[in-house]
Amino acid sequence: MTHPEENFDYYENICCEVSKEVNTDFIPMAPEIVQTSSFYFPTYEKFMDASDDEKNHYVYSRGTNPTTETLERMLAQLEGGEKCKVFASGMGAISATLFTLLQAGDHVLMVNTIYGEAVSFIQYMTKYGISADRVDVATTEDILNHLKSETKVIYFESPSSQKFELLDLDLITAIAKERGITTVIDGTWSSPLFQKPLAHGIDLVIHSLSKYIGGHSDIVGGAVIGATQLVDTIFEHGHQALGAVSSPFNSWLAIRGIRTLPVRMQHLSQAITTLLDGLAADTRIAKIFHPHCGNTDQQQLAQKYLTGYGSLFAIDLADESFDKLKVFVNSLSLVSIGVSWGGFESLALPAYKGNNLTNLQARGLSPAHIRMYLGLEHPESVLADIRQALDKAYGPMEEC
Ligand code: PLP
Repeated sequence: MTHPEENFDYYENICCEVSKEVNTDFIPMAPEIVQTSSFYFPTYEKFMDASDDEKNHYVYSRGTNPTTETLERMLAQLEGGEKCKVFASGMGAISATLFTLLQAGDHVLMVNTIYGEAVSFIQYMTKYGISADRVDVATTEDILNHLKSETKVIYFESPSSQKFELLDLDLITAIAKERGITTVIDGTWSSPLFQKPLAHGIDLVIHSLSKYIGGHSDIVGGAVIGATQLVDTIFEHGHQALGAVSSPFNSWLAIRGIRTLPVRMQHLSQAITTLLDGLAADTRIAKIFHPHCGNTDQQQLAQKYLTGYGSLFAIDLADESFDKLKVFVNSLSLVSIGVSWGGFESLALPAYKGNNLTNLQARGLSPAHIRMYLGLEHPESVLADIRQALDKAYGPMEEC
């Protein structure tokens, strides 16, 4: 004789029975997580209708899921876009988007110091007959010198990773629209709050949700936002087929992050100017890379396009000694060593890893270049920490 607990049906039955006993007369303060892989259909006809149009029906969570759709609708609204699709990572969104947009014979132009993994992905796509160039431009007009008749996509960040240079979005749109080129911006630095590229005619905005949107260094996610027709095509080919899907729980954590995004971003926008103003006079730092410290042209672009500042920036140390750089980074105590950014913790990440000088030269970066992220600690405390580490590595600052 078998016990009922050994029968699988028993578990399905108690799940159904017990869930009916649970009081459903409540309104949760936090949105619900629909943590399911698949959805039931009451009839075969309903299933056939749904599976014919998976982007608008819940069939299987690799395609659509109510928690993930809640996040997508929030992000689309924040960016002022028609539709959003979220992914398992920022790179998931970037690769799915470019995989969908490009085909053999097409050329893609990457402008300025975009995220390294995105460059690697685009370069890898050349094995499918796509050509690609990455260029550094002094002004946005210079983009014109690098376009080809087969250019189909301009891919860029503004501000860019590592050098945090801004481009003129209206000008890029004007250049691209005339030539039928699709424009894609990675807007992670500004978050959807501080820059609205779609309002300036950019076709698609990508975000790594792993940064400010998640906001707590506990998720990896990505998103692409734009016109419904474009995002639906990316859904069909880049999302459904490549499968870099956000789990309902990760989507839920991103929703939680968005609920505090404005408070965190407004704080950081103020705090970063305090920190950068404190570092500006330090003679041990040769250059600070951030729109707040940019030249007149950059300040004008910041004025035009940004309504606040992200807190990711970089410094070039005046002394390029690798040994001293190691002492500096190892002497930081409030600021930690680590990749990624956008969470609570302030971070430092030198670009030079002892073996990548050629790569740095190709990207126009000094071996004494350090990407830094101001987190939610007090900016004065982070400033004091950086100063004491500079003292240890380079000696006290010379008075001018
Ligand atoms: N875009 C920028 C500007 C980034 O800094 C990163 C990641 O570090 C990415 C995209 C990639 O995002 P993810 O790490 O979520 O794949």
